[in-house]
Amino acid sequence: MYSRNLHIRLLLLLLVLLVSAPAIMAQKNRKKQFTVVIDPGHGGIDPGALGKRAKEKDVNMSVSKLLADMIKKKYPGIKVIFTRTTDVKIPLAKRADIANNANADLFISIHSNASKNRKANGCETFTLGAGSSAEAKAAAMYENEVILQEENHEELYNFDPRSTESYIMFELIRGHDMELSVGLAEMVQKGMVKHSKLKNRGVSSAGFLVLHRTVMPSILVELGFITNGSDENVIASKEGQKKLAKGIFEGFCNYYETYCKGNSTPVASSADNNEESKSDAAYSSDSRPVFKVQILASDKKLKKNDKRLKGVKADFYVEKGKYKYTYGESTDYNAIVKKRKDISKKFKEAFIIAFIDGERVDTQEAIKIFKKNNK
Ligand SMILES: [Zn+2]
Repeated sequence: MYSRNLHIRLLLLLLVLLVSAPAIMAQKNRKKQFTVVIDPGHGGIDPGALGKRAKEKDVNMSVSKLLADMIKKKYPGIKVIFTRTTDVKIPLAKRADIANNANADLFISIHSNASKNRKANGCETFTLGAGSSAEAKAAAMYENEVILQEENHEELYNFDPRSTESYIMFELIRGHDMELSVGLAEMVQKGMVKHSKLKNRGVSSAGFLVLHRTVMPSILVELGFITNGSDENVIASKEGQKKLAKGIFEGFCNYYETYCKGNSTPVASSADNNEESKSDAAYSSDSRPVFKVQILASDKKLKKNDKRLKGVKADFYVEKGKYKYTYGESTDYNAIVKKRKDISKKFKEAFIIAFIDGERVDTQEAIKIFKKNNK
């Protein structure tokens, strides 16, 4: 009697396991939910740029909400996170932190442009970079100045948004995320122009702090010039806002279908990315990335007093038969950003690289790990 009972119980247990195993496996293999962060610029006591009747913060919010609704409707599986949903002021650093902490796949910051020249008009999409024109640089400078209203901005950012010197640090951003960011920017810009009929100012790069602090593909959209009469009519009207949101949405869909569908980590097409980038999952949690500044590469080993080193005490590592010279070394990414800034006076092309356990790794991944460890 007793043994038969046990037998049945064992059979039941086996049955439960058989039924639930595929579900457990599916759970394990399930990909991370694709997450997009939408960042309506400004808010609260910071209205952003002012038009004759509209405020930038309100325009940004309306378009952001319309965009989010469109994404959620077409892709219920995509997670949409806002940096703000109400009229409040959010520090720039916090906007980026929200995206980084959510391990987001995309960051879209929505702004409206302004100029003293009231004739300036059109929509434009930015990625992070050195600044492709004086106007692009001015737009970044204008948007970055919001940090001056934040408490402790000197400590928090170590960046003077009004000094052109500060912007040198954006010259060396490159790698995996850049290609994806530019891809997204081009698709979004195309969509916006098509639907809004605003003048096409194209895709540019500039030193936007908020983009610098995010660790995923990210763009900043300038919907149009709130200081231009006919642009304001478009961007401040419900009709115009719908068209702009539709355009951004179309660009988003295009990007998502091209790079991300069925593949939660976007893969850029460039071949050399695959070789050098490794997922942080490949490293144990206590591997700390070491950051260095690469200043020079040479086919031959250089003598210590070689002119090309410009008197800099440099280390080197060998990769694919090339001697690559580096300056500085730190596990603190922020410290190495400073080092790079210093050395860029001598080596304009200097850029940040990262190592884990002595092995070169993707810099963006290393920054992610650094940020995770220093939360
Ligand atoms: Zn703005």
